[in-house]
Amino acid sequence: MSCVKVCPTCKATNAPTEVMCVRCLGDISGVAVEEDRPSPPSQETRPVMTLKTSDGKDIIVHDGDVVGRMAVGADVIEPYKTVSRRHARFTCEDGNWYIEDLNTTNETYIDDVRLSTGKKVQLLSNQRLTLSSALELIVII
Ligand SMILES: [Zn+2]
Repeated sequence: MSCVKVCPTCKATNAPTEVMCVRCLGDISGVAVEEDRPSPPSQETRPVMTLKTSDGKDIIVHDGDVVGRMAVGADVIEPYKTVSRRHARFTCEDGNWYIEDLNTTNETYIDDVRLSTGKKVQLLSNQRLTLSSALELIVII
């Protein structure tokens, strides 16, 4: 039986020696090591969408993910210092995707319309999502 650390933020399984989540880069130094269990099937069929950068990089987003410089997509977003560490949450309900700005300093825009903080807004495929006016992403659902 192998042992793992399950990230409290994104539920990713990490090696017991990790102090930083491999998926969302969250601090898991204080997370207890537990026995590895096969994840339930519902975990593997979580809805997924893609955010595509203008230079062809993909950020894969699952239902419930938070995107930001220290969250999902960190490897792509890291150079954009004005994007918040936890910038926006993505959720999928009944097949529809929603985005929620997490009270960011530099805001979130869909097709140049600014999102209100804490208000879920539906996303449609091919919309242009802008994080903090620095990073433009195309929504692929
Ligand atoms: Zn994580």
